[in-house]
Amino acid sequence: MTNAGATGIGDSPMTLLADVSARDGASPRDTTGIDLPCAAAVGAVAVNAMSVDVEDYFQVSAFEGHIRRDDWQHLPCRVESNVDRILALFAEFEIQATFFTLGWVAERYPQLVRRIVAAGHELASHGYAHVRVTQLDEPGFRADVARTKRLLEDIGGTEVQGYRAPSYSIGAGNLWALRVLEETGHRYSSSIYPIRHDLYGMPEAPRFAFRPAGCERLLEVPVTTIAVAARKLPCGGGGYFRLFPYAFSRWALRRVNRRDRQSAVFYFHPWEIDPDQPVQRGIGMKTRVRHYLNLGRMERRLRHLAQDFHWSRMDRVFLSTSARERADG
Ligand SMILES: [Zn+2]
Repeated sequence: MTNAGATGIGDSPMTLLADVSARDGASPRDTTGIDLPCAAAVGAVAVNAMSVDVEDYFQVSAFEGHIRRDDWQHLPCRVESNVDRILALFAEFEIQATFFTLGWVAERYPQLVRRIVAAGHELASHGYAHVRVTQLDEPGFRADVARTKRLLEDIGGTEVQGYRAPSYSIGAGNLWALRVLEETGHRYSSSIYPIRHDLYGMPEAPRFAFRPAGCERLLEVPVTTIAVAARKLPCGGGGYFRLFPYAFSRWALRRVNRRDRQSAVFYFHPWEIDPDQPVQRGIGMKTRVRHYLNLGRMERRLRHLAQDFHWSRMDRVFLSTSARERADG
């Protein structure tokens, strides 16, 4: 329970954690051992959530100071062909996934959005133009997510329930955003990365799905980490998946399924399977390494991932269970 002084998500992160711990008896400070009943399974086999953040190579936050938004329209787009390759890969392995899609991309490639939906995948929101939530005030964020949800629903002809913040930009400083997502009709967010990172992260957040303080329906589903010696290590995709050997990712995800008995959340980007994308000049060494490292190995690793684990859409893995939780009271 949140205390009487806690009026909502604008409160401290401890308020948020207290809300979680109240349901499972853990200490508010113990965020590594929370075991919410959010794992989905087929028989004894865990089902994990596969997700794609649909954006092009020039829209990543790391290039923000290098490529102006006004120039996006003049750059060669590769997102459509890359997403088509992902759709083919998922069809080959009979995987249905969640596509967190930018409104900017959907407006330019409405047929791509329809192909995603027609193939049985979940259409979800990644905001309109990849503006980080930390750069928006509450009215600005509300307008951004409401506009994008409406746009995607109009184009895709399906309800949009999920949202992922650009660059995992929801954290301790802007938890009010989760309440705004609930108020604008979203059912879940996957916007917090509970790790320490120079650009994002909220290391004190729970590792697994939780109901944020001040929300009645919305579930926050963090990207997956493993707990090792009181530290959380990322194992849910992005640059880390390209950096670490595949064997580490497999070991870590199995550990989440077997030891934590939780479903994992994995994500990647269309540009990560595209070693032939135009190379940006004049960016810093760190950004260069993060963006271009092991792009040529990505598709092979995704094939291993597809074979080694069971995957489904975010809504199927997490929302049906949360509905049961509510029904159970
Ligand atoms: Zn993104």
